[in-house]
Amino acid sequence: TQRTLVLLKPDTVRRGLVGQVLARFEAKGLTLVAMQLRHVDAELADTHYAEHVERDFYPPLRDFVTSGPLVALVLEGDEAIEVVRSLNGATDGRKAAPGTIRGDLALSNRENLVHGSDSTESAEREIGIWFPDL
Ligand code: ATP
Repeated sequence: TQRTLVLLKPDTVRRGLVGQVLARFEAKGLTLVAMQLRHVDAELADTHYAEHVERDFYPPLRDFVTSGPLVALVLEGDEAIEVVRSLNGATDGRKAAPGTIRGDLALSNRENLVHGSDSTESAEREIGIWFPDL
């Protein structure tokens, strides 16, 4: 079994989709082990997105993730990291396959509703950032 860090980004909260998106993860069979509504500051955004801080797309991404509260959660289950990423769909909502969260509900490359850790190393790092007591 694996744990992964998921963010329901500020667009999910703003659009009233938290319940719908969370329901997809739960329906899949993943177990919720931690959850928190949080309005993040630039420092936490930079820590979470350390590998992207120098990228051209990062300043507007930072503005977006700090634009309102988001929901951070930890999900647990068999192959949870890969399962969450496949439920999330491709980064760009315009290209994500129908049936995925982004494919069904997002139309943007930046405001794409969700984040999921991309490896066991990043899951461990990100869970430590968002839920240091876990
Ligand atoms: P996440 O890491 O959020 O699960 P991902 O792994 O599909 O998404 P990354 O390449 O890690 O995507 O990019 C992180 C986030 O940065 C994306 O989810 C998106 O919000 C934003 N992003 C990535 N590429 C672009 C881009 N070209 N233009 C605008 N925003 C982008």
